[in-house]
Amino acid sequence: MTKPTMEDIVSLSKRRGFVFQSSDIYGGLSGFYDYGPLGVELVNNIKKTWWDSVVHARDNIYGIDGAIIQNPLLWQASGHLEGFTDPMVEDVVTHKRYRADQLAGVDSTDLKELKQLLKGKKSPEGNDLSEPRFFNMMMQTWVGPVEDEAAKVYLRPETAGAIFINFLNVRDSMRAKIPFGIAQIGKAFRNEISPRDFIFRVRELEQMEMQYFIRPDDQEESYEEWRKFAWNFLIDKLGIKEVNLSWHEHGESERAHYAKAAHDIYFNFPNGSKELWGTHNRSDFDLSNHSRVSKQDLSYIDEAANTRFIPYVIESSVGVGRLLLAVLTDAFSRDQVDNETRTVLRFKPQIAPYKAAVSPLLKNKPELVKIARGIYQNLQQNLGMVIWDDNGNIGKRYRRQDEIGTPFCITIDFETLDNQSVTLRHRDTTKQTRIAADKLVETLNKELIN
Ligand code: ATP
Repeated sequence: MTKPTMEDIVSLSKRRGFVFQSSDIYGGLSGFYDYGPLGVELVNNIKKTWWDSVVHARDNIYGIDGAIIQNPLLWQASGHLEGFTDPMVEDVVTHKRYRADQLAGVDSTDLKELKQLLKGKKSPEGNDLSEPRFFNMMMQTWVGPVEDEAAKVYLRPETAGAIFINFLNVRDSMRAKIPFGIAQIGKAFRNEISPRDFIFRVRELEQMEMQYFIRPDDQEESYEEWRKFAWNFLIDKLGIKEVNLSWHEHGESERAHYAKAAHDIYFNFPNGSKELWGTHNRSDFDLSNHSRVSKQDLSYIDEAANTRFIPYVIESSVGVGRLLLAVLTDAFSRDQVDNETRTVLRFKPQIAPYKAAVSPLLKNKPELVKIARGIYQNLQQNLGMVIWDDNGNIGKRYRRQDEIGTPFCITIDFETLDNQSVTLRHRDTTKQTRIAADKLVETLNKELIN
């Protein structure tokens, strides 16, 4: 099966209501996107699947929803004010800025190495480049009426900060014992130098993060467990094909300042095999620094072992939009049906925006429409999102549903009047079977559980 191009994904996303360029009627704003009616359903299904697997399926992981803007001391302690930077070069004529590592074609933040690699290189416009230097990606604003230094705050560049500073609150309110984790889904903001590749690299993103607090001795085992979790989640819960995934271990120059070990899962995106999901061993970096700057004791007392220590943290972190792009890319396919090419999104049925489509064979036959309406309402109550489609001929309706990944189409026809059976058509095989109307909910629910 040939891989879709980015253009295939962008155009389907816009045409069928998954993702729109934000501020579209004003010419857009680089690095910002809006989710449309189908995109928001898909995103919500992905987020719910993650939350169920991380928070609801375990008894020692707690969810929170922290504020986007926090006391700036948080970002001083975390090292973001100092070090949340990307290497940048500037076209000396147009003053356009580029990621130095991307122009050099390496995963590195070492300025010396980048300077060497970029020697004699021109900008994409063909002009000379400045020397590489660091650029801080924190977005800032002010709270209160006076826009001075004292009022300066930052939009969080990652969700993890709120988790670390709530370590004590969660531990005490939930009487949590190590090992335990805190999970969060929320927006983060990064003033990316060159946002690009559709929703792959944006300036307003959403992250799903989980920080697992452990004894230092358990770091290797826990790290492996969370690596395995991410890999299996993508395959088993989201239906992503294993051939599209690979591991990438961070080298010394790529690893964040705090990380003891870092492995990313790369996905085979239309723009190449690139980072999708990070698992990091952050050691005791975060809680030590927050202890130091806040002057609060964030150590943990293990009464049974009679020891006190600063917990280590294993972090699991993935961008929701990047995951959506992976799901769309993985599901996208084209095949031949009745000598016609169809585009089909083969979503795992559980995460598809619509679970089923209901159609009366002819929309001007009230006896068919009446039964179809009844079935539609019943499925809506029992399956969630179901779509009513009576436009055009039945073949066109099936193509339309294939293109948005609806796994089942139900057609009410003249045979229904005789024996209360309906046609159930499966998206992936295009096979059609007859099924008793009163068995629909049970049958589809079974398919949606598997
Ligand atoms: P990259 O190397 O691609 O800039 P990163 O290593 O800085 O990413 P992390 O800080 O580890 O990323 O963030 C965790 C996850 O958040 C990433 O694996 C990715 O899925 C997502 N993410 C990070 N930056 C962006 C962005 N600008 N746009 C979309 N998703 C992002």
